[in-house]
Amino acid sequence: MKVFTTTSELKEFLKSGRIAAMKEGKELQVGLVPTMGYLHEGHASLLRKARAQNDLVVLSIFVNPIQFGPNEDLDRYPRDAERDLALAEHEGVDAVFMPSVEEMYPQPIKTKVAVEELTSKLCGASRPGHFDGVTTVVSKLFHIVAPNRAYFGQKDAQQVAVVAQMVKDLNFDLEIIPCPIVRENDGLALSSRNVYLSAEERQAALILSRSLKQLEADVYGGKEVTVLEARQQLTQKIESEPLAEIDYVEIAAFPSLTALQLTNSFNSELEVFGAILVAVAVKFGTTRLIDNVLLTGKGEAIHV
Ligand code: AMP
Repeated sequence: MKVFTTTSELKEFLKSGRIAAMKEGKELQVGLVPTMGYLHEGHASLLRKARAQNDLVVLSIFVNPIQFGPNEDLDRYPRDAERDLALAEHEGVDAVFMPSVEEMYPQPIKTKVAVEELTSKLCGASRPGHFDGVTTVVSKLFHIVAPNRAYFGQKDAQQVAVVAQMVKDLNFDLEIIPCPIVRENDGLALSSRNVYLSAEERQAALILSRSLKQLEADVYGGKEVTVLEARQQLTQKIESEPLAEIDYVEIAAFPSLTALQLTNSFNSELEVFGAILVAVAVKFGTTRLIDNVLLTGKGEAIHV
């Protein structure tokens, strides 16, 4: 496994790989897994999928300052390069790209990539500028690596929708592969930020996966509820947990994130849109967690 800290060295490595493959009459298939490090089983699942579908797997680890708001956790975001590299090696990664902030942004950035509409909702509403930071850094990574496929977790469902929209709008020549949410045995969605939680907060945070799962069971079980009732029930369940402080509870079509008719039955909206995202962001102490469930009309895979 090679570890690169500069764009030029990584590009050189990829170029020689592509030339070698071409000499054998093949096109080198490259998979990219962008992350902010402090890797866990969720990241590992993306790496495994990338490993299975490509000749060469590139993992990027970069805590991207421009996607953090002024009062967010950039300074305390957890890092452990040594452990990350061991996990990457174990998953058969070919190249790790770990640039410094100066390498990615040698001077203050004057160009940004911004996706409209999709980014003003859900996390975009509570984290202004966040998605511009994401799409800008992801564009840079796509240009540097020029992957055939890039892997993103459904844990960040809005991110999947936003990046897929950017790829379509700007003709990036690659496929976005969404990957399912990986959870702890008790249901908590894996996140690098889970380390911030106290034992008590971690226990309280189980309300998210439990209440989302309940809603999923209700809808798939054919229970007649309107979209509004579903949202109210979910909100009430989460509010029943004293340590939970709701940022948002949203129900929207996926991947368009179009608002639904609140007074229509959930199942009829599901028939209309094919896929509905139920997403929550909730603070436990100082830690903001997100979780979601993607409900599909016929249990089909969703193409973004
Ligand atoms: P992050 O390092 O948090 O920016 O995440 C990097 C990638 O891993 C993103 O595409 C995330 O959606 C994905 N990811 C993070 N947590 C999970 C999880 N629990 N299950 C699946 N994918 C995840």
